[in-house]
Amino acid sequence: MRELDTPTFRLAVAQFDQAAEAMGLDTNLRERLKLPQRSLVVSLPVRMDDGHVEVFTGYRVQHDSSRGPSKGGIRYHPDVNLGEVAALAMWMTWKCALAGLPYGGAKGGITVAPKSLSAGELQRLTRRYAAEIFPLIGPDKDVPAPDVGTDAQIMAWIMDTYSQQVGYAVPGVVTGKPLSIGGSLGREEATGRGVVYVTLEALRHLKLSIEHATVAIQGFGNVGSHTARIMQQQGARVIAVSDVTGGIFNANGLDIAKLLERNPSRPLHETKLGETITNEELLSLDCTVLVPAALSEQITGKNADSLRCRILSEGANGPTTLEADRILADKGVFVIPDILANSGGVIVSYFEWVQDLQRFFWSATDIQGRLQDIITSAFQRTLRFSTERHVSMRMAALMSGIDQIAQAHLQRGLYP
Ligand code: GLU
Repeated sequence: MRELDTPTFRLAVAQFDQAAEAMGLDTNLRERLKLPQRSLVVSLPVRMDDGHVEVFTGYRVQHDSSRGPSKGGIRYHPDVNLGEVAALAMWMTWKCALAGLPYGGAKGGITVAPKSLSAGELQRLTRRYAAEIFPLIGPDKDVPAPDVGTDAQIMAWIMDTYSQQVGYAVPGVVTGKPLSIGGSLGREEATGRGVVYVTLEALRHLKLSIEHATVAIQGFGNVGSHTARIMQQQGARVIAVSDVTGGIFNANGLDIAKLLERNPSRPLHETKLGETITNEELLSLDCTVLVPAALSEQITGKNADSLRCRILSEGANGPTTLEADRILADKGVFVIPDILANSGGVIVSYFEWVQDLQRFFWSATDIQGRLQDIITSAFQRTLRFSTERHVSMRMAALMSGIDQIAQAHLQRGLYP
């Protein structure tokens, strides 16, 4: 499909092809799993505050639903396009299967810079989007969640728009909601907490201690900021963080609490809590753990050789290209691939959905304990697969996820 042909989609398909080849995947299935099951493109007319109407474009793509409702976030970003959303939906399929969640994969998005809208415009855009994708979503069909540029407030508007249409409250239609309408404790920090749990496993495997570890984090949004905070709580020294404007570095460790207190609309370097560095410099810092927690394709054939980390823990989706993967393997960098490293978000989304369906809510201790159990065992299974089959951690994670989906398709058979 020509509309899908974008760099991010090509990366997702190239990874899939490599894994499918290595596992000898059934050729019929291979063709099917390369393309999404359903893609919806919607036009979103929005009355702006000055009275004129602007038309935005939105997407919802369901890559696979063989194991259950499809699941995945909604991204608001100026670069969102159908190919990127389809790639992210495919990664959600493998991610959910790898963690053993009874879900398929989906993703949505709107091509917009959310910070350029007023709160009223953002709400009208979100509600119109929710109304347009209404036929596809539902607690048993497809369950959206936050992603880059969206948050609990946006999920609340989607939940409300859906509930208004059916006539009663349906908390299970989205996850990552505010607590007051059926959100879960621990959901907001979940992706960052998951990144920390798998990094602790990797450190243990490499016989390194968290107390001696230094951490650099690209991105200080939901994933990066919680990763920084929890890494520090666990005893690591967070030496650098960045946002789109650039980063800050302090060899003795940054004061993360102070960084979190700042006005989030101000660039990080204005805090003067460290030396100003560029995003490119951050990636090549000498550190134990590097966490890309921003957008895709940040570590490429051009800069991979300059990385000086021991562990690459992928908080973002698709941060590393295939060419970079080969370079990192030669350098001996231990990669915790995105579909494993950042799966804490969707794992706690699953807990939220289960709590909504049961109308029975769990404690923060329950959430953290169950998250740690699921993500740690997914890490250990992936590590074992990688060692036994002599493949990279990324290939091991992809092959395990794809295998779950393949089994579901082969057992269900082809309709009609
Ligand atoms: N957007 C997150 C991800 O990429 C979470 C998705 C979810 O919770 O459904 O994994």
